[in-house]
Amino acid sequence: MIRTRLLIIGGGPTGLGAATRAGEHGMDWQLLEAADTPGGLASSFVDEHGFTWDLGGHVQFSHYKTFDRHMDLALGPDGWIEHQRESWIRFKNRWVPYPFQLNLHRLDPADRDRCLAGLQAANGDRPRQNPGKKTGTGPVKLQGVKRGQAPKNMSGQTGTGPEKYVGSIGDRPRNFGEWVLSVFGEGIAELFMNPYNFKVWACPLERMDHHWIGERVAVPEMAQVMRSIRSGEDHKSWGPNATFRFPRHGGTGAVWKAVAAKLPAERCHYGDPVVRIDPVEKIVETRSGLRVRYQELLSTLPLDDLIRLCPGVAPSETAGQLVSSATHIVGVGLWGQAPSELSGKCWMYFPEAHSPYYRVTQFSHYSPNNVPRPGEQWSLMAEISESPHKPVEKETLVADTLRALTEDGLIPDTGAVIGTTHRRLPKGYPTPFLGRDQVVDPVLRAFEKKDIYSRGRFGAWKYEVSNQDHSFAQGYECVERLHQGGGKECEPTLHRPAWVNGRVNE
Ligand SMILES: Cc1cc2nc3c(=O)[nH]c(=O)nc-3n(C[C@H](O)[C@H](O)[C@H](O)COP(=O)(O)OP(=O)(O)OC[C@H]3O[C@@H](n4cnc5c(N)ncnc54)[C@H](O)[C@@H]3O)c2cc1C
Repeated sequence: MIRTRLLIIGGGPTGLGAATRAGEHGMDWQLLEAADTPGGLASSFVDEHGFTWDLGGHVQFSHYKTFDRHMDLALGPDGWIEHQRESWIRFKNRWVPYPFQLNLHRLDPADRDRCLAGLQAANGDRPRQNPGKKTGTGPVKLQGVKRGQAPKNMSGQTGTGPEKYVGSIGDRPRNFGEWVLSVFGEGIAELFMNPYNFKVWACPLERMDHHWIGERVAVPEMAQVMRSIRSGEDHKSWGPNATFRFPRHGGTGAVWKAVAAKLPAERCHYGDPVVRIDPVEKIVETRSGLRVRYQELLSTLPLDDLIRLCPGVAPSETAGQLVSSATHIVGVGLWGQAPSELSGKCWMYFPEAHSPYYRVTQFSHYSPNNVPRPGEQWSLMAEISESPHKPVEKETLVADTLRALTEDGLIPDTGAVIGTTHRRLPKGYPTPFLGRDQVVDPVLRAFEKKDIYSRGRFGAWKYEVSNQDHSFAQGYECVERLHQGGGKECEPTLHRPAWVNGRVNE
């Protein structure tokens, strides 16, 4: 039996953030990880053709100076490649810079007018005739939409799309679907927001909350939208990740291997999943039979797994109330160079129904070393969501992805394909479902009464604070709290997501 003050379950960014902080404080700690290597969902792998892949398009950007410092230390000054974000939306055979709502001038005039009218109606403006000069795509003529008018069809373009909108938009939206409609109006909702978000979340928007949104969705100001329509100028650099960085070698996983390598090896136990937690005796048992007695347990297991592994703490039915989606990653390695129209493009969003993917990343653009023969090869990574609301044809998914990539003009010549790779993450996105906090918060509190702290992307189930920087911070801050003997105030990432996301944290 090992005895320790702090036992950490999971060697992903949250567990490694916790272990790092525990080490800085000279605390006694141990870490148990099921996989043979650290990194969790932020791991990378090399396929049989030598192409490097992340588990989904990971880019590093940060809200925390401490996180930046640890990232600098992990890979050193030459270990990173800095990028200017270029994200685009493929819509009706056009490229529209992200965010869609700030680049309406890129749409065909009918769609642009429809979006603008909806936006103005949502903003309480009367639709204006001819708001500006010619943009080169013809004069702007508006077909107005009355304020509060219910859209004819909110099912978007996905075919299997979200449930039809049946409510009216009150002053306070009751769900994500109503929020979209009240902020963006009918045109943007129906053409982009609804179909795109259903493709990402695999969850009807009416079953999702909207309080997680914060900085994650660009809420347009009418003046800004009108200016870009008049000038025809693109808005590309909105949001927190206008610049980002990526490891020069080894994909995102290289970061977390490097962070883990700075920890004492004798405290980290890999390849041995936890199978039992006894919250009364405070003993954790692994598959190999290792037993660890702890004083405090920091779990980064998915919360539903924790509830099941550690019975009697939280009501067992809450495990089934937590909603998530699976993510499929399809990687395509290619000979030659990316087509010129992809030049500079980092990742691309696909709201339309003909493609299975919601996002495609030009992964070889992040680092030339993501392909085995830099300069002679390139690579694309597609992400596809899955849930009971949005089943996926697994047998045909790779073929469907290749067909759509060809139709979308991303792969001009299928003869250039060297190979494909396909992974399914059973848990990809923690869905911000309606009533999430009412389910999650009491469960977290019940575990804390037993000195068990559930943190991380699926440990705390808060999408808005579930990126690598947030996850590292959740682990780091939780250990800070335990070290100080403090309370919730020590963990702003978990307890004040909007505040943390709105600033650079010291
Ligand atoms: C498709 C996708 C795209 C993403 N894109 C980005 C991005 O662009 N930028 C960004 O910053 N972040 C991104 N993320 C998020 C990033 O991957 C997460 O922030 C991070 O991995 C979460 O860390 P974590 O430690 O909380 O959880 P995880 O990484 O899931 O780690 C949990 C660990 O617990 C281990 N574990 C599970 N069960 C057991 C058990 N029984 N016993 C012991 N160990 C166990 C797992 O093996 C795993 O290593 C993305 C994630 C996905 C899925």
